Amino acid sequence: MGKLVGKTALVTGSSRGIGRATAIRLAREGALVAVHYANNASAAHDVVTSIEKAGGRAFAIQAELGVPGDVQQLFAGLEQGLEEHTGKVALDILVNNAGILVRTSPETTTPDMFDRLMAVNAKAPFFIIQRALSIIPDGGRIINISTGLTRFANPEEIAFAMSKGAVEMLARHFAKYLGPRNITVNSVAPGVTRNSNPVFNIPEVVKQLGHFSTFGRVAEPEDIGDVVAFFASDDSRWVTGSFVDATGGSLLGSS
Ligand code: NAP
Repeated sequence: MGKLVGKTALVTGSSRGIGRATAIRLAREGALVAVHYANNASAAHDVVTSIEKAGGRAFAIQAELGVPGDVQQLFAGLEQGLEEHTGKVALDILVNNAGILVRTSPETTTPDMFDRLMAVNAKAPFFIIQRALSIIPDGGRIINISTGLTRFANPEEIAFAMSKGAVEMLARHFAKYLGPRNITVNSVAPGVTRNSNPVFNIPEVVKQLGHFSTFGRVAEPEDIGDVVAFFASDDSRWVTGSFVDATGGSLLGSS
């Protein structure tokens, strides 16, 4: 029997990468999962199909985040899907995973790049949580995906790291606010994790990136999805407001 039977979950940005692995893992535990995407409808539908083939339940919803009306569109699709699949509108687990990375030197970071990073990575999760509060029952779970770069300096990713620093504040402050309702809020911070970026097709680069981790490899998306699944379950009930280092020991420093 899965640990999330009878629960509902929204994983933003779950058409690919860490979000995809998280959606599949939560569904394997029995949750009905809303698979959210921005543009890649076929990838999102593939995720739904693989969940269904494995005996799970999921539906896809589209909404571009970081633009006016984003949260309204997201919740229109979410609430319709929840109503259709469960006959009610309740969201037990929210995973704020969708995010963008801009890698450029401090000198070449433009105000537009900065604003977009903040809009997608930081502003959208805040207003998604705000909007979700009325449909998350007591005992719910909120997990926000951060990055090891809030603890590990890389000057080419300052603006990205700043946006994730803001994301980490969501756990601290919402955890205090929502504790009386037994809703936990935590940050999970991955290190280098395989995704659809073409660099992961170049073995020498992957080997080099693997050296950040004490385990000598890059993370697979499932390595992170499994950590998120713990925070989605009842097993994590006594942990809230935390920062979870899911970098495979990258923050321990170089050997
Ligand atoms: P990814 O493979 O690049 O996939 C990004 C996902 O987010 C896709 O589902 C994409 O939808 C969605 N998305 C992107 N921009 C969006 C927007 N403006 N509105 C709505 N959805 C949007 O991502 P990932 O590498 O797995 O990263 C997932 C999370 O982990 C991100 O928050 C990222 O910052 C964080 N992280 C990743 C790494 C890493 O090494 N991969 C390391 C540290 C932290 P479409 O498919 O429709 O485009």
